[in-house]
Amino acid sequence: MKFHLLTIFPEFFAGFLENGVVARARNSGLLDIQAWNLRNWTFDRHKTVDDRPFGGGEGMLLKPEPLFLATEAILPERNSRTRVILLSAQGARFDQAAARRLAQYDELLLICGRYEGVDERVAERLADEELSIGDYVLSGGELAAAVIVDCVARLIPGVLGNQDSTQFESFEASGHEPGVLDCPQYTRPAEFRGWPVPEVLLGGNHEEIRRWRRRAAFEKTARLRPDLIAAQKITK
Ligand code: SAM
Repeated sequence: MKFHLLTIFPEFFAGFLENGVVARARNSGLLDIQAWNLRNWTFDRHKTVDDRPFGGGEGMLLKPEPLFLATEAILPERNSRTRVILLSAQGARFDQAAARRLAQYDELLLICGRYEGVDERVAERLADEELSIGDYVLSGGELAAAVIVDCVARLIPGVLGNQDSTQFESFEASGHEPGVLDCPQYTRPAEFRGWPVPEVLLGGNHEEIRRWRRRAAFEKTARLRPDLIAAQKITK
């Protein structure tokens, strides 16, 4: 799968691209991720990508022309296997279901906004969709793009050692219990600073462990994310 990151800060992604699961997947050829400098599609001496908003107001906006030219150059043939995404606080909320949906494409181009945002014609006429990673405002789309790439990448077959593990994680519709978070997990030592691991996990009785995990996952979801349980009741 191929990801294009369109940004005024391509160097922002260096650490993200060179570590962990994403780096391994790139090295093995499963992922091709390229950060493109938006200023390459400007023609003035200062490589200007921004301008003042019509009608007045705070700050500057990314101009449409460099974004259109860059997108047309990077993805000259857009089709049903490609997707252009504008990162935006105003976008639809990105979640695990959106990650699964995006993992079906061959090529994604993620447009990272900056300043006070992006000329609206980019959302209206260039992007296939507008996505937000949460109800808060970041200074730029780069962190949001990294979140989406990381989340989508680990769903691509072969990227994780054991692909089944993604099936049973929090927010997965196909998980042990849809709508319930993953269960609490513990590792060695069995006792740390006087806090023991739940006895049942040490006993080796798989049926008891399964039942304990199910109950613990429900309890944790009810405590931390009661909205998930409420949503599950409504859809049933
Ligand atoms: N004026 C905009 C608003 O109030 O909606 C915020 C602009 S923000 C300072 C600059 C850029 O950061 C945006 O164009 C977008 O690309 C990115 N951004 C900010 N918050 C985001 C979020 N929650 N999800 C995705 N991208 C975000």
